[in-house]
Amino acid sequence: MISVSEALSIISNISYTPKATTIALKDANGLVLSEDIHSPIHMPPFRQSAMDGYAVSPNNSNTYEIIGEVQAGSPKDYTLLPGQGVRIFTGARVPESAKSIVIQEKVQRSEDRITVDGEILINQNIRSAGEQIQKGAVALTKGTKLTPAGIGFLAGLGVTEINAYSSPTVAIITTGDELIPPGTELKEGQIYESNSIQLEAALRQLHIKKIQTYVVHDEYEQTKKTIEEAINNHELVLISGGISVGDYDFVKKALTDLEIKELFYKVKQKPGKPLFFGSNDTTHVFGLPGNPASSLTCFYIYVLPIIEKMRGINTSGLERTSKALTADFVKKGDRAQFLKAKIADQSVEILEGQSSSMLYTYAIANALVYIPENINKIPKGDLVETFILPR
Ligand code: AMP
Ligand code: MG
Repeated sequence: MISVSEALSIISNISYTPKATTIALKDANGLVLSEDIHSPIHMPPFRQSAMDGYAVSPNNSNTYEIIGEVQAGSPKDYTLLPGQGVRIFTGARVPESAKSIVIQEKVQRSEDRITVDGEILINQNIRSAGEQIQKGAVALTKGTKLTPAGIGFLAGLGVTEINAYSSPTVAIITTGDELIPPGTELKEGQIYESNSIQLEAALRQLHIKKIQTYVVHDEYEQTKKTIEEAINNHELVLISGGISVGDYDFVKKALTDLEIKELFYKVKQKPGKPLFFGSNDTTHVFGLPGNPASSLTCFYIYVLPIIEKMRGINTSGLERTSKALTADFVKKGDRAQFLKAKIADQSVEILEGQSSSMLYTYAIANALVYIPENINKIPKGDLVETFILPR
């Protein structure tokens, strides 16, 4: 059995060269760019009006003759003499000879003449060509994680495809003879299988789409065969349950027989003591405890940083913060604990119902409070290390 910090350091020392792939921009939210993207155009591509109003060629007076109109999208150009102007709208191309846009709220119009109220400043309300980015300049750098804003920015430059690190293909294997799928009727002794859908949701939140779920009974040969197939076809394999020491827990033996190199097995923590992590040349394998809260906590603390490496993300797991406890806390036992909690402003409340089999408080938690193994009492108001759960 190793400590949480030893287990986390093994995870953080795993090196992984993420694979790059070309992908349609519309499918790239959350992906990390594997190379710089240069702008193919000036943005904006032309001098653009920032307002609805009048484009004028100033002549030190405040009255102008209006000789035409430019709508957004129109290629029309006008040669304005000093003292002339055109009606113009937001986003429209500003005639070369216009030097200023006067907003319509500052103008009185009478037929083809306007009178401007106030000063006219050169270049006011005009976006210059390439003001946001010049053609050929770096729009986003390698390593940037795409967000909806990033996708919008690149689409605005005309980009349709990008090169990004691909997300791993992931297998989820559930074990347990007591499990039946939700949607069927429970018989005596059975419970609904919930870890696969929970893990799949957590994976999807990390922008992983290639997920395959396998179901095995508590039976050695089938367990081994299924894990072997999953390892051969996926870069990451998450096995739920069957990793403990019960007579019907076959996962550990199967992994040993399949020559998965053990990197750690059993961590001095609550929940999630019987956690396994191992690898072969192609695949990382986690044996997650079957209890639903343990399974999810081990996913967030140990699996998520590995997934980040695979996706080319340069961070080390969940975002951490320090928050003041809302109540005294007393820990029993000598294992480190990850406690379902709720952050509000500068403080954090450890929630009721911490059992590893229970999800009812996890469902409303937004954080996990970490209590190191050597600490047993923390008074209200003291700062505790708190992991923020992805939303
Ligand atoms: P195990 O790790 O296989 O000993 O399972 C520990 C506990 O978690 C048992 O109460 C199981 O019934 C429960 N459990 C295991 N797998 C799942 C699952 N996929 N969904 C819901 N509960 C599970
Ligand atoms: Mg089991």
